[in-house]
Amino acid sequence: MPEASLIMRKIDGGAFSTKIAAFDFDGTLNRWLCSGWPSKLTDYALFHDCVPGKLEELHQSGYKIVIFTNQNGIRGALDGKKAQTVKQALDWFAGNVDAPIEAYLSTKRDHLRKPSLGMWDHLMARTEAAGVQVDKGESFYVGDAAGREGDHSDDDVKFAAAIGLPFHLPETFFNVSKAERAHGGQTTGKGTDSLGYPLRAPPMGDGSSSRKRGRPIEGGQEGSGLLVLLCGIPGSGKSTFALRLLTALEGQKTESWV
Ligand SMILES: [Mg+2]
Repeated sequence: MPEASLIMRKIDGGAFSTKIAAFDFDGTLNRWLCSGWPSKLTDYALFHDCVPGKLEELHQSGYKIVIFTNQNGIRGALDGKKAQTVKQALDWFAGNVDAPIEAYLSTKRDHLRKPSLGMWDHLMARTEAAGVQVDKGESFYVGDAAGREGDHSDDDVKFAAAIGLPFHLPETFFNVSKAERAHGGQTTGKGTDSLGYPLRAPPMGDGSSSRKRGRPIEGGQEGSGLLVLLCGIPGSGKSTFALRLLTALEGQKTESWV
């Protein structure tokens, strides 16, 4: 069972592996298009357009892709507005990547928060229960909080060191230069994003930087989406129906928040 301050996103079908490709989320896989804490989905953009393809390559090479993110802003309100925004951002990000992604969110300043190892320990407990032994030499962790001048902390580099994983900065790992990171589209002239680059059009407004894949569905078309609204009182079976629908549409792949 997850702990009271841990949020976990898992997608069934993401097999355990001896190799873990672990990532921080904010500032590593995404950047913020706002000056403060993100309050809506359109405050998020991909760190760079190359990120989904790189993660898909890792998956194809046998890595399990895991996100470890400190989200202290949630402060234990696991179903609150901030939590919903972060969950939506993770779902949006995962929707850009054609590979299973497991995510762990620490929501308080406790033993789960990086650089403490609580989130990693949860992953290890599940992995070992599946009879899989992780090879730390083959695994790695990518994060932007490395204690450099201007970094908000050194939580990521300490987290990797405490686990014993090789550590990479996102710009190094994704081999993205400063010029490349400020990817296409017109600047808005409204300041800079969380990484100090000129703000550009939101990623989902015109879809220019979103690679979200439409899946063919019965009665639908490749490239189109399906919007299903489920209305009912709590406990009436909405979530159960949605999971069964996802399973039917995507084979064995279902997803859930716990
Ligand atoms: Mg970060």
